[in-house]
Amino acid sequence: MGIEKYKGRVALVTGASAGIGAAIVQALLKHGLTVVGMARRVEKIKELALKDAPGKLHAIAGDVSDEASILAAFKWVKDNLGGVDVLINNAGVFPFTSLTEGKTEDWKRILDVNVLGLSICTREAVQDMLSRGVDDGFIIHINSVAGHTPPTIDGMAMYYASKHAVKVLLEGLRKDLVAKGSKIRVGEVSPGAVRTEGTSNMAAAPPKVLEFFSELKDMPFLESEDIAEAVVYMLSQHPRVQVHDVIVMPTGQPF
Ligand code: NDP
Repeated sequence: MGIEKYKGRVALVTGASAGIGAAIVQALLKHGLTVVGMARRVEKIKELALKDAPGKLHAIAGDVSDEASILAAFKWVKDNLGGVDVLINNAGVFPFTSLTEGKTEDWKRILDVNVLGLSICTREAVQDMLSRGVDDGFIIHINSVAGHTPPTIDGMAMYYASKHAVKVLLEGLRKDLVAKGSKIRVGEVSPGAVRTEGTSNMAAAPPKVLEFFSELKDMPFLESEDIAEAVVYMLSQHPRVQVHDVIVMPTGQPF
């Protein structure tokens, strides 16, 4: 059985108001899941509802850098929908910040959202699944090729560090679940460059980065839907198959 096994089940997608998260929300709605989209700009999530899709969308305001906000979101899902069966940890930030001149607050924001927020959401989802005896749950992190390579872009080392952490946390989570005898599956999608709200906002980039990208003005980008397809692929596999990591690069990405 493919992704139909999750029809009517509850998927929580973080960072659902834009880019990759928004595309994942719509892909899961098309496959009939009940999707809870969470982000700070809740009005933008509401716009993602699809008239002809079988799934139902719930938009909730939440900030993954704030533990109380995450706990409130999970409580809302439990009280109103029963619990979370699929968690997509997508919310992520990637401000340019130098390791020698950057602001601590930017570093904290990267680590709070990309690492701690992802970990708190994961813990809450696993606890919820275990308490309800859900053994076919699924947790997917949206990582990055930045989680697999040394830093290639100036001012992005803290972001690369956060994504390397995501890779380690994924394998740690897998081993934790195995030790518990749980069949909850985990995996990550690691995209190369994707055209999103986040990557369109280059205004804050340092001059060296703008120079780097101006030399690459014909650089190929993926679309957010390409990453949503990879998520659907992972959810579609037989329960014996745990696709651990899908690296998706735009054809011809030069770095
Ligand atoms: P965007 O900047 O386009 O969108 C980011 C999303 O995350 C928004 O919905 C935003 O919502 C949400 N978000 C940011 N901070 C918070 C927060 N504190 N709490 C809740 N939600 C938050 O990002 P992308 O779609 O480009 O990236 C999504 C994921 O994919 C990230 O993890 C990123 O690292 C990863 N990725 C992206 C690549 C790319 O080239 N675009 C490449 C590789 C990986 P709101 O502002 O409403 O809260």
